Amino acid sequence: MTRALPDKLPAPPAWWVLLLLPLLHFASVKLTFSLAMSPENEVVVWLPNAVLLAALLHWRGQRGVAMAALTFASDVYANLPVFPVQQAVLLSLCNLGEVTLAWLVMRRLAASPELERIQDFGRFLLAGPLIGALSASLLAGLVLCTLDGVRPPYATLVLLWWFGDGLGLLIYTPLLLSLLRPAERTAVDWPRGAAMMVVTLAAATFIFTQGDGGDLRPHVAMTPQLLLIPLLYIAARCSLRCTALAIALISLGSAWSVTTGHHPFGDASSHETILRTQEYILTLSTIGMGLAILLGEQRALACELEDKVRERTRELEASNRLLAELSTTDSLTGIANRRRFDEALAREWARAQRNGEPLSLGLLDVDYFKAYNDHYGHQAGDECLRRVAQLMSEHVRRAGDLVARYGGEEFAFITSGTDAAALAHAVCAALQAEARPHRRSPLGVLTASMGVATRVPDKHDTPDTLFRLADQALYEAKHKGRNRVEQAAPPSA
Ligand code: GH3
Ligand code: MG
Ligand code: MG
Repeated sequence: MTRALPDKLPAPPAWWVLLLLPLLHFASVKLTFSLAMSPENEVVVWLPNAVLLAALLHWRGQRGVAMAALTFASDVYANLPVFPVQQAVLLSLCNLGEVTLAWLVMRRLAASPELERIQDFGRFLLAGPLIGALSASLLAGLVLCTLDGVRPPYATLVLLWWFGDGLGLLIYTPLLLSLLRPAERTAVDWPRGAAMMVVTLAAATFIFTQGDGGDLRPHVAMTPQLLLIPLLYIAARCSLRCTALAIALISLGSAWSVTTGHHPFGDASSHETILRTQEYILTLSTIGMGLAILLGEQRALACELEDKVRERTRELEASNRLLAELSTTDSLTGIANRRRFDEALAREWARAQRNGEPLSLGLLDVDYFKAYNDHYGHQAGDECLRRVAQLMSEHVRRAGDLVARYGGEEFAFITSGTDAAALAHAVCAALQAEARPHRRSPLGVLTASMGVATRVPDKHDTPDTLFRLADQALYEAKHKGRNRVEQAAPPSA
């Protein structure tokens, strides 16, 4: 899977960044000279090229020409005390070419400059330490051959340049990039990671300062390979930035150690020692960075997945609420349906039973509604049902009251008050007052009949008792000529 360069371009580097760049480059030259150059002038790691590469990657090449010119000037300035002018300029051109080539290859491979994915790290290894550094070293080898008094053969010069530059890019570019980025949100276990960092650096200091220049045998036989263990812990537990810093410090520590006469890699010729150190740095940084990037990627994926699950859960809960609402709502009138009514009746009945309070139930049935439908059509009938639901809701509206469509043209309400009959009368009167013509009714307008029952539930009663009483009262209202309210008789003492 390839990922194109991120679409969001950062703001171009500010003027002070352009000023700082050659200073950082020059400081990196000095750092390399003081920490990683052998008395025979062999460089273990060459850091400065990473400054321009990191800047080009971070700012996506914006103001690239200015950045390249400034670091080139700094490079020539740093080379002048060591090489004749012509060679100094040519070697700086090699460095510039190396970085430019690495940058172009990374673009060509569509590698994300963030180096936060393992395939991007792989592309960086290919573009920088391999293609960029090797190409530059082939040319630099030629330039170095033109110097007076240079003894090593061309192949050795190429190898030394390649490994030094390649490793410099490898350990320094990810570090600078991670410092330029805001801290990662997925960095984990900071206190333990920091403690391990201290332990690692203490162990590194001990290992790299073993023996002095005169004593070839170390006092205690501990090899730098041991540092791989705490480094892997840091890579697993800490941020990429932390890991990159640990790798850079250990690498520079090892370079300093071998160039100042210590022998952490055992007794060997100076040239062989440098090669062993470079191999060590290569192993350390590829494994350490690779693991940190891989685990960081996993953590980011896990976070992304958690966010998605949270979002989906929220959506699911919302749709469940909607579903629950819909499953208890009558779609034609928008009021409660029979299911919600049955649940509410059971609940209110239990409450009234507990508190010894009365509960009232009213049933409404539209009069001659079949005839209304037949005469005016089903849609007009629907409109009437909506209006009846509205009227009932307007009248029965105290907290705890409920109005529901019980089925067809039948409606019901529950109220804990004792004025259920009055409410029922008000609803019937309001409907009649609307005077909706009903030519097929002997009453001439649309009307409804209602039955009402009120009970203080005793322990033998069920909600059905109340419903049956209200239904009987409704039947009586129909029987007595419709458009009226009948109330069930209170239970005989
Ligand atoms: P009564 O006065 O005795 O109640 O006579 P009625 O015609 O109202 O009673 P009946 O039970 O014979 O008819 C009820 C009618 O209600 C039958 C049906 O067409 C109508 N109906 C039931 N549900 C709906 C509905 O959702 N929309 C419409 N428009 N009509 C409905
Ligand atoms: Mg009916
Ligand atoms: Mg009816």
